[in-house]
Amino acid sequence: MPVFAVETAAQRSPAIVERGALTTLPDHIPVRAGCVFVVTTEDVWRLHGSKLQGALEGREHHVLFFPGGEERKRIAEVEVLADRMTAAGADRTSVVVAFGGGIVGDVAGFLAAVFMRGIPVIQAPTTLLAQVDASIGGKTGVNLAGGKNLVGAFHQPLASLVDPEVLSTLSDREYRAGLYEVLKCGVIRSPKLFRVMAEQSARVLAHDPEVVDWIIAESVRIKVEVVNADERENGLRRILNFGHTFGHALEAATGYTRLLHGEAVSFGMRAATHLAHLTAGLSAEDGVDIFEVLDRYGPIPSLEGVAPEALLGRMRQDKKTIHGSIHFVLPERIGEVRIVSGVREEVARMAVESAMADLAS
Ligand code: NAD
Repeated sequence: MPVFAVETAAQRSPAIVERGALTTLPDHIPVRAGCVFVVTTEDVWRLHGSKLQGALEGREHHVLFFPGGEERKRIAEVEVLADRMTAAGADRTSVVVAFGGGIVGDVAGFLAAVFMRGIPVIQAPTTLLAQVDASIGGKTGVNLAGGKNLVGAFHQPLASLVDPEVLSTLSDREYRAGLYEVLKCGVIRSPKLFRVMAEQSARVLAHDPEVVDWIIAESVRIKVEVVNADERENGLRRILNFGHTFGHALEAATGYTRLLHGEAVSFGMRAATHLAHLTAGLSAEDGVDIFEVLDRYGPIPSLEGVAPEALLGRMRQDKKTIHGSIHFVLPERIGEVRIVSGVREEVARMAVESAMADLAS
């Protein structure tokens, strides 16, 4: 059973990757804990609730349903959940369990971070994206009208229980969106993971447990290693943003409705790979390998009608928030990236146009 230790200044906690990991929930609840509040969505509870229900039998617990969706990832929903916890008698000994995709993880994590100034949370992620990314590392938060994840807190979970069994019910599109984040981990830090994603794509797409469990564990290992070195994203953790500068701009330019986050990151990795050719000396062979693997897990929805200028406009807005310079995470070779700033706008525009042209062809 792969167990990775997340070690930050405040605590040490396990990220467990194992079929059946959800049933170990009681082992991670502190002995003196009071009531457990499971925050989830109705669909996830209907499909997989019995796994947690069994694990919580005999313990005082409540299930709080959250509507889900990016538009409901707002402070108002956190207040609704907190009110329901108070009405049910929650106190400082209560524990929150975030049972769902990344949206539930972020909302429930933030709820736990601020409820009575902070109570423990256990992350029980049910999408691939949440398993390899959102449930590890302690970032929690909600959206504002002005942008995504603008209010939040670092709040490390007591444990992350990554159970690949629950992925069997995930839609093909959501599954592939998570696979792009797995691919990201390969490009930034693990040539072996990249190779498996390239050579075993048929098995990955067919949910072959042997290979799927391995790619999840390898992605979690990488995320934990990076978080342990830089919890607050002052340095190394920024490499996890490979594909995200262009990806966030595309999500914003399309109103957060057209693409899933992982799909936008897929576009972003394509654009960043073009940019790496233009500026960072990435070899043509490595670039072709990245494009080929991205194609294998595609396609992403059409970008017809999206103007490159719309993305550049968004990136210019971002620039204000990071002291006048856009930072890009660019591959130097597979398994290694570096952070590049001071890229001229016309060069970034060429990268966006090339990525759009690839997808249109
Ligand atoms: P999501 O949470 O919206 O889940 C996608 C959909 O799948 C939802 O409708 C959900 O109900 C459904 N679902 C979940 N598990 C299922 C299952 N096992 N079977 C069938 N359906 C299931 O989307 P997501 O991609 O998991 O998360 C995206 C969010 O994660 C974004 O808000 C993003 O900002 C956040 N995120 C956070 C971090 C972090 O470090 N905190 C990192 C990456 C992304």
